[in-house]
Amino acid sequence: MRLEEMLKTCHKLEYLEESLQPLFQKTREIALVNQAKVLAAFWENRVDETCFAASTGYGYHDRGREVLDEVFAGVFRGEAGLVRTHFVSGTHTIWCGLAASLKPGASVLSLSGRPYDTLWKCLLRAGLSERYEEIDVDTPVSPGILKSRVKEEPGVVFIQRSRGYGSRRSLSVDEIGARIAAVREVFPDAVVLVDNCYGEFVEEKEPCDVGADLTAGSLIKNPGGGLAPCGGYLVGRADLVEKAAWQLTAPGLGSGIGATGDKRLLYQGLFMAPHQVAESVRGMILAAALFSSLGFEVSPAAGEKRTDTVQAIHLGSPELVKEFCRAVQSASPVDAHVVPEPAPMVGYSDEIIMAAGTFVAGASSEFSSDAPLREPYTVFLQGGLSYEHIKLALASVIMRLNLPV
Ligand SMILES: *Cc1c(COP(=O)(O)O)cnc(C)c1O
Repeated sequence: MRLEEMLKTCHKLEYLEESLQPLFQKTREIALVNQAKVLAAFWENRVDETCFAASTGYGYHDRGREVLDEVFAGVFRGEAGLVRTHFVSGTHTIWCGLAASLKPGASVLSLSGRPYDTLWKCLLRAGLSERYEEIDVDTPVSPGILKSRVKEEPGVVFIQRSRGYGSRRSLSVDEIGARIAAVREVFPDAVVLVDNCYGEFVEEKEPCDVGADLTAGSLIKNPGGGLAPCGGYLVGRADLVEKAAWQLTAPGLGSGIGATGDKRLLYQGLFMAPHQVAESVRGMILAAALFSSLGFEVSPAAGEKRTDTVQAIHLGSPELVKEFCRAVQSASPVDAHVVPEPAPMVGYSDEIIMAAGTFVAGASSEFSSDAPLREPYTVFLQGGLSYEHIKLALASVIMRLNLPV
């Protein structure tokens, strides 16, 4: 009964989809370029079946792990890569890159405003609040602005591509490039670290293409293709990547150690990622078009240039936020029978409600929605393994909120 009604609701969305075809076509063109990039890196590094084997103990001479580092370096255009399931989350990965690049006593400058909640807490706990400055995301960064606004020459410049849970907008790769160019002029010795979470494969370029020294991301988001079970990656300057490996393991041990289980899903996930990201982006475009047609404010707008897989919808009330997430959960492949409730979460200041009926726990490469229970009651959608599933989930939301389509 319910599925029949969901399918009927999906049919009613077809008129919207027709008008979205040119935008959908663009996502396919981007996916093609990115798929070719991934394929080239597989070929150049002669990926074969032996790369997938698990290693044990110290994990010395784990060829599959070394090749995977090279493959990521090729795709994300760095001198070296560090792809590890030992990174416990995206924040851990970013922190390893940051801590490794920051000389004692040096300061951090953020060029995308306040970092997302978890990383901000991390900077505070690490005692960096006294050595931190920021320029918000809407200030056009130029050498002049850097000279006049920044008090202390930074050791690390941090740029967050995606909005995360914030009301700020996301930064395109070209905008990141313009910031990096200004930094090079004024602070030539600073290390530029880009948080690439949710951004991978949404555009044809990545942060190292526009001069980032280090790019970091999570494998349970875009580059894991929905298959990677955990982990993170760092790509960039070889000296910095190795220092980050010292941070992850121990000084002197570095990247040549660390047993890694079955690596097939890490390779296969990266291979699938350009396609899967495009599916997700099409789903977000549909969500934006649908909810703006229903009178809700959305960000980005359906036709706006996208640089990440996150869609914000301003619902305006805690009830709508909760019901929205419950409808998404009830349309998930896993845990559909579970009812999400707002709850406090490590690293966040407000209660969060999360709908994530995912195969990989907490993976936001899979279709999920989250909302901090705070003004202006915005729900954030992200990920999605297939456009069809996102469409069905949106139908479930429409039905639950009783919205007229
Ligand atoms: C998800 C996310 C991260 C990484 O978060 P973890 O939960 O630690 O994996 C980093 N930056 C942004 C903007 C994010 O949305």
